[in-house]
Amino acid sequence: MPLIYRAANMVEAQLVVDELQSGGLQSHITGSYLSGAIGELPPGDIIGVWLYEEQHTDRAREIIDDFEASQQRPAWDWQCAKCNEEVGREFGACWNCGTAKA
Ligand SMILES: [Zn+2]
Repeated sequence: MPLIYRAANMVEAQLVVDELQSGGLQSHITGSYLSGAIGELPPGDIIGVWLYEEQHTDRAREIIDDFEASQQRPAWDWQCAKCNEEVGREFGACWNCGTAKA
């Protein structure tokens, strides 16, 4: 079962799942979804969207590419002092390396 997408947050992950489903592909989310700690991601945690059927990987990637192209991504709010990752305002720590917001 391939990991098809790494989401920055649960909302994004669910949107990807919905997009895949509308394309007839089944997927599910792993990560903080299971702990219920939405909005309180431990450093390094990954929200992954997994495709059930590996033979549909190419189709799933097409759907995700379209999804990403259509997304108006919110502007990042602050930049990590350690790794220079651009981080959304909903995060109190860098989602990439876990460094706390300065
Ligand atoms: Zn960082």
